[in-house]
Amino acid sequence: MKSVKKSSKLNNVCYEIRGQIAAEARRLEDEGHKVLKLNIGNPAPFGFEAPDDILKDVIHNLPTAQGYCDSKGIYSARVAVMQYFQQNGIRDLSIDDIYIGNGVSELIVMSMQGLLNDGDEVLIPAPDYPLWTAAVSLSGGKAIHYRCDEENQWFPDLDDMASKISTNTKAIVLINPNNPTGAVYSKEVLEGILALAREHQLIVFSDEIYDKILYDGAQHIPTASLANDVLIITMGGLSKNYRIAGFRAGWMVITGPKIHAEDFLEGLNILASMRLCANVPVQHAIQTALGGYQSINELITGNGRLLKQRNIAEEMINDIDGLSCNSAMGALYLFVKVDAEKFNITNDEKMVLDLLKQEKILLVHGSAFNIPDKNYFRLVFLPHVDELVPALERLKAFFATYQQV
Ligand code: PLP
Repeated sequence: MKSVKKSSKLNNVCYEIRGQIAAEARRLEDEGHKVLKLNIGNPAPFGFEAPDDILKDVIHNLPTAQGYCDSKGIYSARVAVMQYFQQNGIRDLSIDDIYIGNGVSELIVMSMQGLLNDGDEVLIPAPDYPLWTAAVSLSGGKAIHYRCDEENQWFPDLDDMASKISTNTKAIVLINPNNPTGAVYSKEVLEGILALAREHQLIVFSDEIYDKILYDGAQHIPTASLANDVLIITMGGLSKNYRIAGFRAGWMVITGPKIHAEDFLEGLNILASMRLCANVPVQHAIQTALGGYQSINELITGNGRLLKQRNIAEEMINDIDGLSCNSAMGALYLFVKVDAEKFNITNDEKMVLDLLKQEKILLVHGSAFNIPDKNYFRLVFLPHVDELVPALERLKAFFATYQQV
């Protein structure tokens, strides 16, 4: 038989968070090693449990959730998302503007598939959450990366963004709170992005999946609350704020001048119907999640577990000679800069692989987030302090002698 090749549509598509190095970690585990996986923002394996009321809802509704539902999602979930947006000051929407998906991931791919023709350009942050770049490439588009500035809280560099707008640009993506940098954008930054979108008639995709995971009093401003004259597609979901990444529940909300986007919306409807509907049982928990007690607040304030872990991780990283990171104001990650000269680093993938082999700690190299630099890595601060502290001590020991060859 002839060798079977992957579709050429996948030629420029990569998603390295679960790539080669994660495969090497699995191989080490198969050999009997214990690997500490700090590569994925998946709260459950680190002992973060779903709020009880969510589990109860899903279980209670299982018997009635056996059939397919509307392609855009069940009514109560969409009303709950609509009301959540209304409470955040976004009034111009109806339940027709809301799509429930199998996580934000599915909706990112669906929206890019529905929008892009070959050669269309989408502005994406660098560093990014790489699914955005992958989804643009899969859809025939071209990801054009705009710089986020480490010296300025990792905020998007608006001049760089403006300079990259061309006649082929269709949309701007922003991720706020940001994965991987932990930045939470100011009103000025968001207004600057909206001004560019307005001037060049671009769609704004605002990935707000971490909107409730905020530290040190940081305030999240929903992009859609700042403009009703720009087409904004906001993504959110239950994976992180409610610690149920495995249940796969997310939403996409369209706001702004929809009248000019009827054809695109028809495309989205076609794609939503082609996958029939999202996983139904978890949709029953969306109303309770958004409307009920927000247990995430206990984790991110006072003596909260996530806040403590973030503080310790930041302190210990910045204490390692040659490593530094900005404070994460939101989300679950530190994006760490490594002194390339000191450690002779030219290949960040090799750096992360060397660490994995020596210390059995799995990180993601910075260039997986579509930056040109080769001296960063991303660390997930989800483990309990009693696991996190020894891991960071091992990281310190590794960098005490590391020289890349
Ligand atoms: N967007 C961002 C910025 C993320 O970090 C993630 C997951 O890590 C996702 C979207 C996908 O989330 P899900 O598909 O679980 O809703």
